[in-house]
Amino acid sequence: MYLTGNQVRQSFLDFFAARGHEIVPSASLVPGGDSTLLFTNAGMVQFKDVFLGTESRPYTRAVDSQKCLRVSGKHNDLDTVGRDNTHHTFFEMLGNWSFGDYYKKEAIAWSWELLTKVWGLDPDRIYASYFVDNQGDLPSDQEAHDEWLAQPGFNPAHLVQGGRKDNFWEMAETGPCGPCSEIHYDFGADFCDMKDVEGHVCEPNGDCSRIVEIWNNVFIQYNRTSRTNFQALPKRHVDTGMGFERIVSIIQGVNGNYETDVLKPLLDETQRIAGHTDLQREENLTAYRVIADHVRASAFLIADGVIPGNVGRNYVCRMIIRRAARFSRKINLTEPFMAKVAAKVIDNYKEAYPELLANQALIFDTLTAEEKRFAETLDSGFAQLQDAIDELKAKGESQLDGKRAFDLYATLGFPMEITRDILSESGLGVDEDGFYEAMEDHRLASGKGSAFADMGNDKTEFYASVFAKLQESGKLSNSGVHYDPYSSFRTPTKLIAILKDDALVDSVNVEDEIEFVIDRSPFYIESGGQIGDIGKLTNAPSEDTWEIEVSRTFKPVSGLIVQSGKVLSGKPKVDSQAVAKVDLESRRATMRNHTGTHLVHAALRAVLGEKVHQSGSVVDPERMRFDFNYPQAVSKNDLLKIEALVNQFIDAEYPVKKQEKSLDQAKAEGVTALFGEKYGQIVRTIEVADERGRVSYELCGGTHVDNTAEIGSFYIISESSVAAGIRRIEAVTGPGAYKFARERINQLNSLATFLETTPAEALHKVETLESEIKQARRELEQVRIEAANQSFKQKLDEVREVAGVKVLSAQIPNADVDALRNLADQFRQKHPSGLVVLATVINDKPSLIAAVTPDLIQRGLKAGDLIKRLAQVVGGGGGGRPDMAQAGGKDPEKLAEALLQVDSYIIENLK
Ligand SMILES: [Zn+2]
Ligand SMILES: [Zn+2]
Repeated sequence: MYLTGNQVRQSFLDFFAARGHEIVPSASLVPGGDSTLLFTNAGMVQFKDVFLGTESRPYTRAVDSQKCLRVSGKHNDLDTVGRDNTHHTFFEMLGNWSFGDYYKKEAIAWSWELLTKVWGLDPDRIYASYFVDNQGDLPSDQEAHDEWLAQPGFNPAHLVQGGRKDNFWEMAETGPCGPCSEIHYDFGADFCDMKDVEGHVCEPNGDCSRIVEIWNNVFIQYNRTSRTNFQALPKRHVDTGMGFERIVSIIQGVNGNYETDVLKPLLDETQRIAGHTDLQREENLTAYRVIADHVRASAFLIADGVIPGNVGRNYVCRMIIRRAARFSRKINLTEPFMAKVAAKVIDNYKEAYPELLANQALIFDTLTAEEKRFAETLDSGFAQLQDAIDELKAKGESQLDGKRAFDLYATLGFPMEITRDILSESGLGVDEDGFYEAMEDHRLASGKGSAFADMGNDKTEFYASVFAKLQESGKLSNSGVHYDPYSSFRTPTKLIAILKDDALVDSVNVEDEIEFVIDRSPFYIESGGQIGDIGKLTNAPSEDTWEIEVSRTFKPVSGLIVQSGKVLSGKPKVDSQAVAKVDLESRRATMRNHTGTHLVHAALRAVLGEKVHQSGSVVDPERMRFDFNYPQAVSKNDLLKIEALVNQFIDAEYPVKKQEKSLDQAKAEGVTALFGEKYGQIVRTIEVADERGRVSYELCGGTHVDNTAEIGSFYIISESSVAAGIRRIEAVTGPGAYKFARERINQLNSLATFLETTPAEALHKVETLESEIKQARRELEQVRIEAANQSFKQKLDEVREVAGVKVLSAQIPNADVDALRNLADQFRQKHPSGLVVLATVINDKPSLIAAVTPDLIQRGLKAGDLIKRLAQVVGGGGGGRPDMAQAGGKDPEKLAEALLQVDSYIIENLK
């Protein structure tokens, strides 16, 4: 069975969803709240806290396809990416998960069913392993052993044992752990790349590329407290992982991951741009693979907010793009081209990962800018590196000094990984530890990163220094700016710093674009889906008046809040007293929409069930957008119920209570927390409730109305799909709802006026009109057919004589080939000796038919020859028997010209 990559992913999700699993969206490549990890590198990252027992979810079965990236800065196996068929930086991991729910029996049976029944893999190619402890501390996994043997069609000889190395999984030296069962696939004897190795046997974990692992089922059943002490867990879990690209390559029956429809289009596009033949592509396959892999990885990174830079994740993004650029030089691609390849990535992945399409322009621009920037230094970098290689060889050394490798990076932007690549092609290496030491030294000596200032755009250091100065001068306390967007829309404050062009200044002029710091700020900072406030900062009335527009507020470093905007009037000066005013109209509209999302959340759960929960939201003054998990489109009827319920909550005038309390207390009171959010110990709760009962109780830092009645009214304006298993509702409240309803009423009124009826009667009138139109169309069709018949009959009378031969040649409007044939027959019945050529136009294409009576065939006139000649004129071809032939063409305008040829054909050929 052939499935596209997208179908493979979807069938995996669907298979487990049908078995009670929640479809969970992939977490970002940037792990939320886990500073120990550079990138999400496995499916289990987003569920780690669930297994550790510090987080709970409203479901016990989950299925997902997780975006992963593996390129740790140091000692990675990046070198192998591109050099073989299977290694990637970015990849997807398919996983099904049980949190204290099902266990080995179901997990193994479902694996087998999916692979052999749904995807149709040959059971004889599948191997499975189970755990047998080579250290003797733990019992063998008899249960997995028995379950595998119970699978229908499983070959018992394909069940193998594995020890601690391959068949035991642990998160760390202590903590949750357990045996696992690997599933391996046999690609066939041809795939063994170790045939020449003496004593080699093809087997699971036998190191050759014939039998390879495709899926690992981990059964978490112990908590390890010391090297030898394993305690049985009260709740046992299942954690599985299957490499998406590999299973797609198996299902599609292609030779390696780069031949799948997931990656092949990227190589094809590169080939198109390079103008290579297939042979040239084959000869440069490593470059092609590196480009495909790295462009895909950088597109996903940029979509998740990681742009090229000099430190941490940003360094990795830069390094990957530059490594692709360096390989592109090998196939003579010197102009920026990666955006075109990225367009193929977006095309292929946009359904499953809509963030790609949403960030398309950013992805294209970032790639192109980084390619251009690297191109400026690349040639001198190559030259310097070649000098270094020559020197090393002359001295008989094998390793480039780390300091020198770092200089190549600092001055010419050559990441260490690229230097390492190039050196290794000459059989040389680089002192990687020395590189990182030099990097550290340099950062320390230069006050952390300022030597790189022109290469990156990380302004964190700058804001940190501003914060430090404000603290030193006593303008800010250690706790920073007092932030309170909740209690007032007007806050007396002091302008304590003005930033212009990334420098602190004492005063600025009208029209200047600036950033500024005030000691107390009421402006809401965009978070939790709620847009940031706009407003104004005005000085105290006694001084020379000035005013600054506030268009954005952000927190660049903890404790420091910065506003940005334009000076509207006057000359703002540092240390002036001022009043910060939040724009009331837009903030109130935003508050109505935010409280509205909490009501939507409650109504969704009431109508669609408690399994529904929020997976994202955007709240601004215009509207709200609410994303939630649900397997199919919400029915019209349910949407109406949800809308009605939210309006009931509004009409019931529920108070909205905002409180701060401990997370434990809020949880004990049954609060709804959002997934992926990390909460501190003190949380803010929003409760919509009174003595009639509780409508909603959520953890939320947003701003809200005091009573649901303030929302006014609520309309859902759309319901759509965002990603697999995720739906989106867009809605309006308050004046936005009025505006929406008013527009619809105006449209209906115009329609009714046009139809000369009342709005209530408009639909009925349209239905009546439609059936009248249908009737009229039927009648018109009848008339048309009759008219065509009539014109046939008239044409029959237009017979001419050419050299004594009776000839009819004519265009017949509105006819088809059958009608032409029928008319040609009528002609021959009426004229026992004669020649007829008829033409018509069908779907903008000319069609011709010719017929000749037997006596004239004897005299040298042949329908087939004639039609061939005519068809050439209208740009087509055709032929047939001497008595009857037909042809088609391309150019209907030339039909008349073609028919003119009939007479000369007769004169030339008649004997
Ligand atoms: Zn082998
Ligand atoms: Zn909220």
